[in-house]
Amino acid sequence: MSIGYNHLVTRVRPGAIAHNYKVMNALGGNGCAVIKSDAYGHGLAVAAEALAGAGARTVAVGTVGEALDLGRTSFTGRVIALLGPQLPEDYEAAARKGIVCFCARREQLEKLSEAGVRAGRRVPVALKFDTGMRRLGFPPEEAGRVLEKVLGLPGVEAVMAASHLAVADDPDQDAFVREQGARFAAAVSVLRAGGLRVEATLANSAAIVAYPELRLDMQRPGIALYGADPFWGTAAQGRGPALEPAMEVLTRVYQVHDLRQGETISYGRTFTAGRDMRVAIIGAGYADAWSRGLSNRGLVLLHGLRAPVVGRVCMQMTAVDVTDVPQARAGDRVWLLGGPGENSIRSEELAQWWGTISYEVLCLLGLNRREYILDSPGENE
Ligand SMILES: *Cc1c(COP(=O)(O)O)cnc(C)c1O
Repeated sequence: MSIGYNHLVTRVRPGAIAHNYKVMNALGGNGCAVIKSDAYGHGLAVAAEALAGAGARTVAVGTVGEALDLGRTSFTGRVIALLGPQLPEDYEAAARKGIVCFCARREQLEKLSEAGVRAGRRVPVALKFDTGMRRLGFPPEEAGRVLEKVLGLPGVEAVMAASHLAVADDPDQDAFVREQGARFAAAVSVLRAGGLRVEATLANSAAIVAYPELRLDMQRPGIALYGADPFWGTAAQGRGPALEPAMEVLTRVYQVHDLRQGETISYGRTFTAGRDMRVAIIGAGYADAWSRGLSNRGLVLLHGLRAPVVGRVCMQMTAVDVTDVPQARAGDRVWLLGGPGENSIRSEELAQWWGTISYEVLCLLGLNRREYILDSPGENE
């Protein structure tokens, strides 16, 4: 999958993902690695392989289709489909492959059971409860009826109970997190009192760090595996363990030239040089999923220094101010994300300039042509 037709490349370090998994698992103890959406843009198969090498026995993808893709790789562990079966063909496939499906409504349980009976097995399911996110899930108050339902179905076996937290990354909203935790605990006890031996799973990356009491039987780290701090920009920033970024994005300088005081640059003439300056035209634009919202806002890294975007980000080109980077030349490497040295650009910073979160930055930049770097410093740990 690749959207870029210019010189930009996304580099991924599987060793960093493996390292981060071990660091997070040192806290939680039983991490199901979340690799949905092509492992947050890092590549499903490579991420799964790295995680398996780091000891992950369970991974979670989004769709059943993604779980099937994973089945065609070398990964042999347990696979969870967080979105559960949604398309008619998902049921048969999940039953055939034994994919652990999140189920959030009765019809999913019934159809999976039918498919399980046809496949001659009990399909493992995770009962998903909506404890406050108000997206998918059974109401926790209905746990008793869900229990009865599932016990009456011959083709499914409830192996997990799950819910998802809305604000674990916001230190100002811990009351709501605890409320969700309490609602989930109540649902799980009903299931267990009725004889279901379910693993309880609630915590995402932020909760694994901030709410030890919510780590329960299995944790679901996502963003932390890719080296981003879920608390970035809050009072709890830096609270988690040290993680290694797993993605960098780089391109080339096409041309360097003067921009005279009073001249404007790029479409719309949104930037006027307030002094004589030098600009570099770099091979990156919104067609590379490097947002046009970074116009006059973003920074890039070259020669170890940060250079600000001047004017509008174009489709495949952007101008940056290199007045203070006199060594800049055509052909130089430029990092949009990551890069060597202390000025390395973090996904969280890029997200801030872009007006979004690190998750979106990684998912989108990961759509570009990817290369894998196998000599990560974290790899041998
Ligand atoms: C994406 C996702 C996670 C991981 O969340 P992070 O904040 O990336 O750690 C966990 N559980 C579910 C259901 C998810 O969809």
